[in-house]
Amino acid sequence: MKIFYSETHRLHDPAFEVFDGGQRVPYLESPERMERILKAIRKMDGAEILAPRDFGLDPLRAVHSDAYLAFLASAWTEWLAATPETAAASDKTALLPATFAAKRDQMPETILGKAGFFLLDLSVPVVEGTYAAALSSANCALSAAEFISESINHPPSSNSSFRLPLSAFGLCRPPGHHAGREIAGGYCFLNNAAIAAQWLTRFGRVAILDVDYHACNGTQDIFYNRRDVLTISIHADPSFEYPYYAGYAQEAGEGEGLGFHHNFPLPAGTNNAAYLVALDQAIALIKDYGPQSLVISLGMDTYGGDPLGAFKLTREGIGEIGHHIAALNLPTAIIIEGGYNTDELGKNVVEILRGFQR
Ligand SMILES: [Zn+2]
Repeated sequence: MKIFYSETHRLHDPAFEVFDGGQRVPYLESPERMERILKAIRKMDGAEILAPRDFGLDPLRAVHSDAYLAFLASAWTEWLAATPETAAASDKTALLPATFAAKRDQMPETILGKAGFFLLDLSVPVVEGTYAAALSSANCALSAAEFISESINHPPSSNSSFRLPLSAFGLCRPPGHHAGREIAGGYCFLNNAAIAAQWLTRFGRVAILDVDYHACNGTQDIFYNRRDVLTISIHADPSFEYPYYAGYAQEAGEGEGLGFHHNFPLPAGTNNAAYLVALDQAIALIKDYGPQSLVISLGMDTYGGDPLGAFKLTREGIGEIGHHIAALNLPTAIIIEGGYNTDELGKNVVEILRGFQR
């Protein structure tokens, strides 16, 4: 399997985030996550790690607003210019506002005002390398999409010795599925899976299946009015879990997109069997939709040992997710989302990727 990865993610390494209750803690969405996954992937048969290609800004502008992209591009330099004393006081500083926009009619002019306008929460501190890392993360997702696009409309033939690529993996950091059209949140700045899916729409209908523990509020936001991209998310019920304000079962799209978004909120303690029931319902919806390609937002925080999750999936259950999705036999770009510092992170990623190897 081709794995698209860039070391550029290391430029986004905030010193802290703020947890509920006001605790300032080391940034959990750390470069170490990629190290753990890479270490395991390097031992996987057939894994080929490739650098992403630079797709430029156009695929990003098809998903995010120009004002939001301009904010991400200049946020750090604007912050330095506006508060030189704060920035000089510590090399651990970051742009993180204390005021957030409940009402989004008017973008303020100051950098802190804009930060509150474009950031959803306290898990998205902007540091010097955030934008560069986010760009390279999106390019990893786009490179995976481009790779699998070779097999769209050319299903692999069992009697052919030439096998077209059916799946590829974007080892993307920062993750993306909480980033909306013009908002960052939940460690996410650019919505890698949405950018990949949007790019793939040139070949026909696309489905996004999000199997991260958290609801994909960003992906939902981006495609909520559209029927050319089916979006499905299986996640912890937002009535008790982040992102709290999206991911409910009754949210089904609107306008032309009505009926083309599906949420499967599940309770704390969800085990393999209960998860796979929801997964099979989601897979049936994808079959009915008949997409030309599939994008998977792959979160590993459904695993029982994850520090941010409350599901009880085992490695065996994680492996089953891969097998069930791969049985759709669709060109599939797999994009990594969450999954945090458990010792099992790399092994779990390999377990799910195995389902796609053929
Ligand atoms: Zn997550």
